[in-house]
Amino acid sequence: IVQYKDIHKSFGEVEVLKGIHLDIMKGEKVALIGPSGSGKTTIIRLLMTLEQPTSGIIEVGGRNLWQMKKNDRYVEADEKHLREIRGDIGMVFQHFNLFPHMTILENCMLAPTIVKKRNKKEVREMATEMLEKVGLGDKIDLYPSQLSGGQKQRVAMARALMMKPKVMLFDEVTSALDPELVGEVLEVIRDLAKSGEMAMVLVTHEMDFALDIADRVLFLNEGIIEEEGHPTDILVNPQSDRLQDFLSRFT
Ligand code: ATP
Repeated sequence: IVQYKDIHKSFGEVEVLKGIHLDIMKGEKVALIGPSGSGKTTIIRLLMTLEQPTSGIIEVGGRNLWQMKKNDRYVEADEKHLREIRGDIGMVFQHFNLFPHMTILENCMLAPTIVKKRNKKEVREMATEMLEKVGLGDKIDLYPSQLSGGQKQRVAMARALMMKPKVMLFDEVTSALDPELVGEVLEVIRDLAKSGEMAMVLVTHEMDFALDIADRVLFLNEGIIEEEGHPTDILVNPQSDRLQDFLSRFT
């Protein structure tokens, strides 16, 4: 469903990604691990079209992200093309970015009613259902400030699910939470992973969690995918010294 073909990305003089090749299958759960600054967030931001690659091609569902066909010629993608592709991709960030003046139900309803112009009653029903799915069915009329960090993060997930993405990106979603709130958020992601045809890419430092839910783990180091494979091979029997060294910091 997603392909990165020889992706390079530089910020000024600094080359952050140095040739990323990555194929994500429909429904596949991929965990992305690696040291700070190795480029994990950049990989995710590229898929959200928040950054443009310096070179290389990204495809979503076989469609080139940044180019579109017009009169049999390839031209730079316009806003409409980007919006269509973005519709297949959901994202949950480290910080939840909820609107403080809206209830959590309204937060979840906003994008589908405005962007997709869907019927409000249906959207309300779906938002209620999604909030129930993340365990917040009894809190729909509260405001973000009335919730804990873990609850806010679960609202952010419900909100992303509203768009029915084919791929969901999670960027260190538990790293800003108090330790006692991490479990409830991982639990919701685990449920989604087990139930789902949705592909997931998770940037995470929770190695046990990656071991549990991922179909494949990628170890990113200095802008390249240095090792990848089945979670047990990567996390339990790491080959390279660098991966062994990296993992030793988590035990
Ligand atoms: P972390 O685990 O700390 O979040 P990461 O692996 O996600 O790290 P990235 O956030 O992808 O790493 O950043 C990789 C490198 O790119 C870092 O050195 C960062 O400073 C640099 N970088 C990222 N975004 C920009 C930007 N917009 N402008 C300049 N440099 C950037």
